[in-house]
Amino acid sequence: MAFLPDFHPTLPPLPYHPCLNHEAHDRVARIHLPVAPRCNLACAYCERNSASPRHLASGPGTSMGIMTVDEAVERSAQFLEEWGAGAIIGVAGPGDPLANAETMEVLRRVRRAHPEVRLCLCTNGLVLPEHVDGLAEVGLESLSVTVNGVTPDVVAAMQPRLVWRGEVLTGTTAAELLLEHQRQGIARSAALGMAVKVNMVVAPGINAHQAVDVARSMAGLGALVFNPMPLIPRAGLSHVPAPDPQFMHKLREACSPYLHVFAKCRQCRADACGVPGKERSQ
Ligand code: SF4
Ligand code: SF4
Repeated sequence: MAFLPDFHPTLPPLPYHPCLNHEAHDRVARIHLPVAPRCNLACAYCERNSASPRHLASGPGTSMGIMTVDEAVERSAQFLEEWGAGAIIGVAGPGDPLANAETMEVLRRVRRAHPEVRLCLCTNGLVLPEHVDGLAEVGLESLSVTVNGVTPDVVAAMQPRLVWRGEVLTGTTAAELLLEHQRQGIARSAALGMAVKVNMVVAPGINAHQAVDVARSMAGLGALVFNPMPLIPRAGLSHVPAPDPQFMHKLREACSPYLHVFAKCRQCRADACGVPGKERSQ
């Protein structure tokens, strides 16, 4: 299936990053340092919320183990030696990177040791507003935020529960807070010069009908790339069928007037390493 072109008539060009740029996808290596086990959200589709053993599963939120900060810094040095200065170092879980103090410590230490390094981070966005300035200070090049809808009822169906300042919030109350923090965080990250990619887990019959609204509204906040990903039916959404490739292709086309649309995402593990699709876990 043909991918949408890597250019957009009105948006800035894409960084040469395997998760933003189709051309770079099969050429540039990235490492996810699994230093972030804790999460502040309970996504209905997350393997963390199912009984199956996480280390056997694949996809986001899964990892063979957790690295300490020291291990991650050491691993980064090995990785850069192996793959060169253009390679990307990121944190993508297995929980929410920003819910773990280790993440910022690793990013700072890696930056100090390798001043030219390209840094990347994925988050659910709940605590992004309080971290965004720190991310800019550390020179984060690209940031991915998962936004699963534009209205609280739809977001609550995908992400029914969260923990905010020690309190459990549920349903649309939780979703409203999450959406507000995502919007604030994305707008500020983009204003500070980060390349912002918005991920969306697409579940037919639940949130797929809001994909275009997500793309349009995120473009208005300064996001650069939209990455709609087909639901992997598991955990609380194991009964929902995954969208087929034709469905995803049409959805991506409908979103493409608003943002660069990325179509090669492999929904990698939180400990992936190497060129996407050719990697090994650590
Ligand atoms: Fe790139 Fe997608 Fe893998 Fe993230 S999950 S590293 S965006 S291919
Ligand atoms: Fe799982 Fe990520 Fe959602 Fe946390 S934010 S529950 S790790 S999918």
